[in-house]
Amino acid sequence: MSEENFYENGLRFECQKCSACCRHDPGYVFLTQTDLDALVTETGLSEADFLEKYCTMIDIGGFKRISLIEKKNYDCIFWKDGCSVYQSRPVQCRTFPFWISSLEDKTDWDELALSCPGIGKGGIVSKEEIEKRIAERQKEPMLTV
Ligand code: SF4
Ligand code: SF4
Repeated sequence: MSEENFYENGLRFECQKCSACCRHDPGYVFLTQTDLDALVTETGLSEADFLEKYCTMIDIGGFKRISLIEKKNYDCIFWKDGCSVYQSRPVQCRTFPFWISSLEDKTDWDELALSCPGIGKGGIVSKEEIEKRIAERQKEPMLTV
């Protein structure tokens, strides 16, 4: 099996609901326009008010992306004993941990397993399902300003 096809037979994953990907450590939740629209609808705010209340602009070297803000303890602003916007959570959250950046080779995947205890647990997620999630995340670019 070539290194780039290490997930040819699928990968074992079952979320352990540890919440590590939503809390405790600094990180970014970048938004697409579809994510932003869904969250604006979910919160009942205007887009301008939503951006003001829940978002921050992150400099990515030459341009900026819109990210959800974090609380002082680094929990996502929408973490309240679970994701309080679960039905409208951004594509970045919906597709985790099957991000292209962690599927380049097995080393990247194994590295992610150190922070995501669901990796290696539960049933097999098929190659087709993995690629569906990669495609879902790549369907629309993250918003830049
Ligand atoms: S870090 Fe992994 S196991 Fe924990 S909540 Fe996130 S996806 Fe689930
Ligand atoms: S939006 Fe929800 S799923 Fe995404 S990081 Fe925040 S709390 Fe977690």
